[in-house]
Amino acid sequence: MRDPFMTSITDLPRPAFPFITIDDRGRPDLVAQRCTACGSTYADSQRVACARCGAREAALETFTPAHEGTLHSAVIVRRGFPGVEVPFVSAVVDLDGGPTLKGTLRGTRGFEPEDVATGQRVRVCFDDALGRKDKEGNSYVAHYFEPVSA
Ligand SMILES: [Zn+2]
Repeated sequence: MRDPFMTSITDLPRPAFPFITIDDRGRPDLVAQRCTACGSTYADSQRVACARCGAREAALETFTPAHEGTLHSAVIVRRGFPGVEVPFVSAVVDLDGGPTLKGTLRGTRGFEPEDVATGQRVRVCFDDALGRKDKEGNSYVAHYFEPVSA
């Protein structure tokens, strides 16, 4: 499998996180690992052992996680580093079938902290990572969450 951080194709965006893959056409997706010994899942593609049971790399299988999940927790961030637009909602989402991912929740006009308790359904989407570029001018793709309308 291609290392997501070692792409030599300079006109494609790069993944902002090790659990994002980008195919040859520039389409992003998620990648995760599952331990076949205990069932734990990880938002990672480079893990060499299970953090829960200690099973080695051979017991870890790579899979494509679901793009929908349940909002586990969220906070409204009102202060950020220079250049980071605030406020935004930082969320932790339990993807269906695992793993759990942290990311920015978009489309939250009217979002109230109480909504977290309702187990809001969200979906993963991909977009440019806030206009950031590497030193060669390549852009990055990041994941975001959006509420799923009932
Ligand atoms: Zn395990």
